Amino acid sequence: MDQNKQEKHQARQQKLKETVDAKVASATTEQGIFLVLTGNGKGKTTAGFGTALRCVGHGQKAAVVQYIKGQWPCGERNVLEKLGVEFHVMATGFTWNTQDKEGDTQAAQLAWQHSKRMLQDPSIDLVLLDEITYMLSYHYLDAQEVANAIANRPPMQNVIVTGRACHRALLDIADTISEVKPLKHAFDNGIVARIGFDY
Ligand code: ATP
Ligand code: MG
Repeated sequence: MDQNKQEKHQARQQKLKETVDAKVASATTEQGIFLVLTGNGKGKTTAGFGTALRCVGHGQKAAVVQYIKGQWPCGERNVLEKLGVEFHVMATGFTWNTQDKEGDTQAAQLAWQHSKRMLQDPSIDLVLLDEITYMLSYHYLDAQEVANAIANRPPMQNVIVTGRACHRALLDIADTISEVKPLKHAFDNGIVARIGFDY
């Protein structure tokens, strides 16, 4: 880079730094964050678990409820349980396989009881409710009840909800919403889901 370009680059970086510093200085509220990870692309559950790992890595306490039990064992569970993370998996298969509304509703309600308890426990720093959005879409759980429990959680507790087509009641009270957009997915080219990568 010639001298002139280098100086211009430095000036731009300095301006950017000032903007970022000002933004950082203006963020002063200390409170738990409610994050929704939604959309049709790959990466919602892995981002949720990545944050749980981050939490545990700082010596904090995380708890997980998974609302859809896949056909496959969940790799993250094997690690997180060893690290003392409380982990509940809804005791039923994929809804479109079971075709059992009554059984699914009961299973969802049981998983919700665990979630509700976690959302009232100030010793838990992070509650991950993986794939809970489907329980609201199928009306296995009441959206307003879930939203209320999240809204009334201990003030410092972080909560993550993952799943496609998130209900408006949750989006309305979320602090951060990320929509994962699929630009490509291997499955569409006939590549099967891989252990250690997809689950
Ligand atoms: P991941 O668990 O990999 O973070 P996710 O939570 O974003 O994915 P889900 O909708 O929960 O996505 O789907 C879980 C499984 O479906 C994963 O095995 C993932 O690879 C696969 N999957 C995710 N998005 C797509 C897609 N657009 N097309 C096909 N399969 C997908
Ligand atoms: Mg997922």
